[in-house]
Amino acid sequence: MSQSLIGVKRVELSNRQEQIIQIVKDNGPITGENIADQLNLTRATLRPDLAILTMAGYLDARPRVGYFFTGKTGSELFTERLKKFKVDEYQSRPIVIEEDVSVYDAICAMFLEDVGTLFVTNKNSMLVGVLSRKDLLRACIGNQDLTSVPVHIIMTRMPNITVCEPEDLLLDAAQKLIEKQIDGLPVVNPSEEGMEVVGRLTKTNITKALVELARDQHL
Ligand code: ADP
Repeated sequence: MSQSLIGVKRVELSNRQEQIIQIVKDNGPITGENIADQLNLTRATLRPDLAILTMAGYLDARPRVGYFFTGKTGSELFTERLKKFKVDEYQSRPIVIEEDVSVYDAICAMFLEDVGTLFVTNKNSMLVGVLSRKDLLRACIGNQDLTSVPVHIIMTRMPNITVCEPEDLLLDAAQKLIEKQIDGLPVVNPSEEGMEVVGRLTKTNITKALVELARDQHL
């Protein structure tokens, strides 16, 4: 995870930071020196607060002019930050099985790993399919011997797999989940050999991102 992004996301405004915002709202544009004077503090003491407020989008700074209030509303800042989230900051560990594993063993893996979607790879560890809960339930309805049916018979297969990449925007991945009406996406690194699975992005990851963002919103 990118530490700098976490820093920007998790903004808990201190009393002093609230005071700074008020001073800038009332007097901006105003230099850091003048803000410090009003608070009876030194410019150096205020530097971290000003950096946080600028990074978080509350204040903007222009050289030789000073700080001014951006006037952005809570929902504007919320959207701005949400649009910066990348898939690799929120993805989970992928649970991967090989294509000749039996349906029975896939069901065991799903329970043991406590996931709703399994990714299926070939001998070269490249993505070839996806298995959802309902895919496995459907396979159980027949009278087949589940230990002798390999998952490649029942999985959704390439090229019909919807994927995302670590650097993709979380919002774009969320859009794919909605459009395709699926619960999760494999996060992949494409190469000439195929797609290496490096993560799993689910509706739960997106819910977590939203809750984190909403809880850290202070305006
Ligand atoms: P469930 O079937 O348990 O409700 P999903 O809605 O995720 O779970 O899956 C619906 C169907 O879409 C299943 O047949 C599954 O194999 C397929 N599927 C799931 N994820 C993907 C994906 N990323 N790309 C393509 N197909 C998928």
